[in-house]
Amino acid sequence: MTDFATRLFIDGQFVDGQGPAETAYEPALGKPLADVPSASLDQVDQAVRAANGAYKDWAKRPPKERSLALLRIADAIEARVDQLAATESRNAGKPLRFVRGGELANVADVFRFFGTAVRNMPGPASGNYRSSKMTSLMRRDPVGVVAQIAPWNYPLLMAAWKIAPAIAAGNAVVIKPSELTPLSLLALSEIFAEVLPAGVVNVVCGNGPDVGNALISHDLVRMISLTGDVRTGRAVLQAAAGPMIKRTHLELGGKAPVIVCEDADLDKLVDTLREASFYNAGQDCTAACRIFVHQSLAQKLTDKLETMITSLVYGRPERDDVEFGPVISARQLERVEGFVSRARGEGADVIQGTPADTEGFFHTPTLVAAPITAEIVQKEVFGPVLSLTPFNDVQEAVDWANQSEYGLGSSVWSRQAEVAMEIANALEYGVTWINTHGVMATEMPHGGMKNSGYGSDLSMQSLLDYTQVRHLMIG
Ligand code: NAD
Repeated sequence: MTDFATRLFIDGQFVDGQGPAETAYEPALGKPLADVPSASLDQVDQAVRAANGAYKDWAKRPPKERSLALLRIADAIEARVDQLAATESRNAGKPLRFVRGGELANVADVFRFFGTAVRNMPGPASGNYRSSKMTSLMRRDPVGVVAQIAPWNYPLLMAAWKIAPAIAAGNAVVIKPSELTPLSLLALSEIFAEVLPAGVVNVVCGNGPDVGNALISHDLVRMISLTGDVRTGRAVLQAAAGPMIKRTHLELGGKAPVIVCEDADLDKLVDTLREASFYNAGQDCTAACRIFVHQSLAQKLTDKLETMITSLVYGRPERDDVEFGPVISARQLERVEGFVSRARGEGADVIQGTPADTEGFFHTPTLVAAPITAEIVQKEVFGPVLSLTPFNDVQEAVDWANQSEYGLGSSVWSRQAEVAMEIANALEYGVTWINTHGVMATEMPHGGMKNSGYGSDLSMQSLLDYTQVRHLMIG
């Protein structure tokens, strides 16, 4: 059934998983793509021990050497972009042109950025802070073995966000991709095998409760980094409070509000939402998924959104014209449909694009007009679904946004800089865009507040998160 790499990567070797196989699907067809044997608990232990052995030497390599390895990884990703993009597109249901041109370019850029950043670690100057006879200096050392747990929505990009800063800083990692989308990371491991010393990166596959839990609970793990659900974040915090206390880095869910003021440029907004709400079929933790609009603009915006939604092109990922593909699984499709049908049941107005004319896990783009208390406005849907709720004054919209359990992405739309800045300053969100939404820069931190987690991905901040600060004093 498979032309894909399906073996685990442990201590520099590709090995067959000895646990039960998980089936990876092709969501655009709704059919199995490959069976991937999971790691046994023994293999998880071997991977952690391999990382623990490898990091001691890797940590001692000068930053220049680690940097060169990351730059080589980036070059190799670009050289193999076709194979990696095809694998990612089929397993995650992403339009091939976006994976090839956008996501894979970002993956390479992330390795390149952290390869450069590690040679530019910031910190106070060494000096005589207590007396002329006492010299202080600050070191940033790696943390040790980092257990990393990745989600299915951007399998390679999220893996890159985790692996690149961790190994640049001198740590060694054991990463577990989502059981739904392991194939692209296993393909990327061929590059790790060529470039990195054995054990610096290890990849184990399998489900969360068995393989993931064994990994994050291992006593030799010093830090756990998760991108995933809030519930999984709680499991990580429990594992981190075991016999050996572990550091944690959590990137969890989101429910991004889009606050549209009375003077907003609606055409620019709708053009932006076309991508910011529907890219990756809305399965994005910062997707612009709930609009709070000044009541004077509600009807006009609804009309414009209806025109946009009914013109969105979605379908098979290999087509050159599609803007998004299927959702990840039959379960996710059912979940998204459940939100929309419950909203309908509560009397919400629902506007939808044309139904999908193909098999696979496709959900039609959807706009739901709903009150702030509606489930669809409060809970993370993670599908091509947008809600719209009118507000009376801006303070009401800010209060609604801040009452959320989430605090990851948000945006404010106003033509007046001082109004937009005042709202942005008041929002309890890790990322706030003004007159745009969803645009990332590798140099800038990405992370959440409240139930969206803490710790930064991307930027120098992420590199620092994967280091341990130490003070050395010479008396
Ligand atoms: P998930 O939490 O179900 O799965 C994420 C990973 O955690 C998978 O690899 C899974 O196997 C593993 N896992 C599950 N239970 C575990 C356990 N008990 N111990 C160890 N590992 C376990 O999330 P998902 O469905 O794959 O991803 C979607 C979620 O991720 C959404 O909530 C989304 O918002 C969030 N997300 C957040 C960001 C961000 O930057 N904040 C980015 C992407 C996705």
